Parts: sequence; structure tokens; C-alpha cells
Amino acid sequence: MAKHLRDGSSLKTQNSRTGQAISEKDYPYSDYSTSRIEWSDEDFIFSGEHLPIEISRGCIFRCNFCANPAFKRKGELDKESKVLRYELERNYERFKTTGYMFCDDTYNDTIAKVREYHEVISKLPFNLEWTGYGRADAIKRHPEMAQLMAESGLKAMLIGIETLHPIAAKGVGKGLHPNVLKDTLYYMKDVWGDSVTITGSFIVGLPGEPEESIWETVEWLNTKGCPVDEAIFSPLNIRAPTDNENSPMSKISMDPARYGYSLISSDLGKGISSHGPAWENEFMHKARAEELARSAQQSCQDSQPIGNWAVYSRLRSLGYQEHEFKGKSSFDENFLLDAQNRKDIMMQNYYNKLME
Ligand code: SF4
Repeated sequence: MAKHLRDGSSLKTQNSRTGQAISEKDYPYSDYSTSRIEWSDEDFIFSGEHLPIEISRGCIFRCNFCANPAFKRKGELDKESKVLRYELERNYERFKTTGYMFCDDTYNDTIAKVREYHEVISKLPFNLEWTGYGRADAIKRHPEMAQLMAESGLKAMLIGIETLHPIAAKGVGKGLHPNVLKDTLYYMKDVWGDSVTITGSFIVGLPGEPEESIWETVEWLNTKGCPVDEAIFSPLNIRAPTDNENSPMSKISMDPARYGYSLISSDLGKGISSHGPAWENEFMHKARAEELARSAQQSCQDSQPIGNWAVYSRLRSLGYQEHEFKGKSSFDENFLLDAQNRKDIMMQNYYNKLME
């Protein structure tokens, strides 16, 4: 793409839902595991800024609602230890960066990777903090993961729970009975205590899950001592059929009828992950799922810590120490105002440097 922009050399693209896209099918790249991202002075990284870093690419799982096209085998497309160490040390020396948003669909997809990165992080000359995505079923299989991740500096994690209904859970591809999943979450909380904020994401409208089950989930989330600190509810989206074989499609989108859905609108939606055609199954239709997701979200509103997996690193980049936002809610207006002011000043500084 850079060559194309520089000198107009030819560029192959493919039709996609959102326009023309460059595909790895036309430009295969096999050196991901040894490739480095080197931030330069022109990136104007702030001193101590927490950075995004892609440590792995693709996913080894096959959840039936997910349209992630980058399926891989275990161990494939993980950054090599020496590359990860190089980047972390370089960023520390140049920018005093000690925190990261780990970009990785599932940090704990294999115990080998959790151990390997634990070893890298343990040898760093600073205490690393990070946030990311993980799976509870992997911790059930390898309980030692929880301790290793905490020792590696985990601060907040999004766990895709999706459902606590036994039939829906079986179909979804997460592999654990809801009671076992809950026990695993309690175990994680025991190991992590307050040092890690757990966000659980849930989908409303999965195959086999009736409305009452969503409210049972909400009730559990609101019980005292629930290990999930924050919940996010989203309605199921089914992408419209497409004749482009390269378009990302979930198993449900590829064959809605097999999972008990009929697509009931002629408006196919924009095709992005949250905008597909209307659907219905034996329990509800999409509009009801949207409504339910909103109500369930509101019912869990009291317990929404601000330092979650998406915000923790951003607050640290704004200069807050962890104890200054720990225990604060996402709706704390005074805190939000202060954070907004800090962000505005930082943006202005960045802009000034860019325009110098
Ligand atoms: S939902 Fe997450 S774990 Fe499941 S297939 Fe998609 S990226 Fe992988």
C-alpha cells in the first residue's frame, strides 16, 4: 500500500462489505512472528505512555457466533520471545513505557505461551502492567495460568463468557458448563483479588437461550461477591450472506437455519460486526434482543469500574496512579471531568508537536 501511495504502483484489492480491501491472500506474509514494531521519535510517544502491542495474531478457537477469519493452529503467529523482549526493552529505554494493551484475541490460548511470556516479562528491568483478552475455560484446564498471568502484570481482562445457559453454552463453543464456568471465575477472583478487574461479555439471543435466562444471569452478576466486576451485554448479530468467499462469516451467519434462525428483513445491514439483518429464533427477534441487552446492561450499571480492560492503560497514560482510580465507577462525573481535562491537554500537546 505504501508503494502504491508513493509511486502509484499497482495494488490488488478484493471486494469487501465496506469497499475495496487489501487481502493477505494477494500479499501473503509469513514473517509475523519475527517482525518488530519500532516506534520512532516522530510518533511523539509521551514519557511513560502505555502502548498497544500486538503479541499474537489470529485465534485457535471456533466460537459459532464469531466472524474472526484468522483461524490458526496452536502456537502459530505468536511473537517470538526475543522479539517481544526487544520491543518491551526498547520502549522502556526510549519512552519509559511500562504498560501495554496486549492485542491478542486470547492471551491464554496455550499454557506454553503463558509460560513463555511470563519468563520474558519476569526478566524485564521494570514491573510491567498489561490488559487484554482471555478465556476462562483455558484457566479451568490449566489453573496455574491465573497465577502466571498475575505475576506477568495483568491488570484488567475481558473474558468472553457469552452465556450462562447450559444449552446455549454447549452450542457456543466455549466448552464449559455454566456452573463449572462460574466456579472457574470464582477461582480466578480468589487468585487475582482486587489486582485484576474482570469484565465479562455476554451475548443476548444465542441459540437455545430464552429471555428468563438473561435475567438469571443479571441476578447472578448483581449478587454480592460475584467475581465478574463488570458486564457487557450485546445483541447477537448475524451477518448477511455474501457471495465473496473471503468475507468474514461466523458459523451462524453461514447457515442461520441450522442454528434455528430466520433472517426476516430485506435490509441486509452494513455487514459490519454489529449491523446485520433482523432475525428471529424460537425465543425472540433481534429488536427484542437489542432491547434486552440494553435493559440488562442498565441493571448491572451499579458495578462498572472505570479501570476496565479498555480504559486501564488509557488512564495510566493520562498520568493517574492505579490507586487514584481503583474502585471508581465509570459514572463518577468528577473523575470523568478531570480525565477529560487531562486528555484535552495531552491532545493539544500532541497536536503542537505534530505541527512544529
Ligand atoms: S470469540 Fe474470541 S475466542 Fe471465540 S473464535 Fe472469536 S476471537 Fe476466538
